[in-house]
Amino acid sequence: MMMLEPLTFEGLRGRESRNVALARYTSWRTGGPADLLYLPADRDDLASFVRQTRALGMPTVLGLGSNTLVRDAGVRGAVAVMHNPGGALAIADGLVYAEAGVAAPKLARFAANHGCVEAEFLAGIPGTVGGALAMNAGCYGGETWRYVARVEVLLPSGTFAVRTPDDYSIAYRSVRRGDGSACDGIFTAAWFRFPLGDGAAARVRIKDLLNRRIATQPLGLPNAGSVFRNPPGDHAARLIEACGLKGLERNGARVSEKHANFIVNPNGAARASDIEALILEVRREVLDRTGVALEPEVRIVGERSESGVAKPRGGVPR
Ligand SMILES: Cc1cc2nc3c(=O)[nH]c(=O)nc-3n(C[C@H](O)[C@H](O)[C@H](O)COP(=O)(O)OP(=O)(O)OC[C@H]3O[C@@H](n4cnc5c(N)ncnc54)[C@H](O)[C@@H]3O)c2cc1C
Repeated sequence: MMMLEPLTFEGLRGRESRNVALARYTSWRTGGPADLLYLPADRDDLASFVRQTRALGMPTVLGLGSNTLVRDAGVRGAVAVMHNPGGALAIADGLVYAEAGVAAPKLARFAANHGCVEAEFLAGIPGTVGGALAMNAGCYGGETWRYVARVEVLLPSGTFAVRTPDDYSIAYRSVRRGDGSACDGIFTAAWFRFPLGDGAAARVRIKDLLNRRIATQPLGLPNAGSVFRNPPGDHAARLIEACGLKGLERNGARVSEKHANFIVNPNGAARASDIEALILEVRREVLDRTGVALEPEVRIVGERSESGVAKPRGGVPR
């Protein structure tokens, strides 16, 4: 754990805590502690936090933790959890404005309720708007950045910048700066341009899409969605299933029987190291048997436990 004792804050309105297990902030329900956890009250409060913690570097960011594996020894420095059920949603000048902490399914419903179409795909993505921007999340033919008019970014200096898609290099589940470097700030809001259309039909499509997910994904068990990106022209799930890996279990982490590209943590008992080892094992098996090197879609953050000091097995209540 990093020594944070001298660090005190002024005028912050969010919730700060120290040495907090991140398991409850990830959909896999595993992961070690953050030295300093911050739940900002709003974007200005986050900016103030970033300015006051400059000595720690930019915080590691989590939205709803639905695409993130936090290692067992946790994250040094600060972690900002962006999910904000009260985050702003609005329509202005024909654009849908959403703060980064808003849940993506809420944005999908808001758009449909305001006569917009093509945002339906976001209903099935259990993350935040910020996470969808960072990942260029997508499904069923839809992709987040196709609809972005501009974004607001909080820079390491603690100031805001507004950027357009032209400032980024966007690809399948990948968002980088225009020069190819990693993104340098925290997405705090976005303006989306969704076509106008039949909102009632969009609401029906949202229902259909959610039913399709219930039928095909292990939504009742802790998971982080697709573990691997689909390789060009193929599906990671197809390859994993063809290699006979469905149901493969290691210390409580299991390749889902329902969807081969999902790894589930049924009792919340697997450690991050168990999940990471299973990811590597699946990758190795698929490479050996098919020659295809699968690349993880999930983001892995934090530090490994030294052997013998991993967090004890056992579920963490959410
Ligand atoms: C059941 C299930 C189904 C899923 N289906 C899909 C799917 O169909 N398509 C798909 O694309 N994904 C899917 N996912 C994965 C996941 O929901 C998406 O990647 C989602 O966009 C992640 O959002 P999050 O807020 O949970 O991000 P997190 O997991 O919290 O973070 C993911 C990454 O984004 C970064 N990040 C988060 N917020 C910000 C921000 N405000 N600014 C800068 N960086 C940020 C984090 O630092 C991290 O690197 C699924 C996951 C689950 C559990």
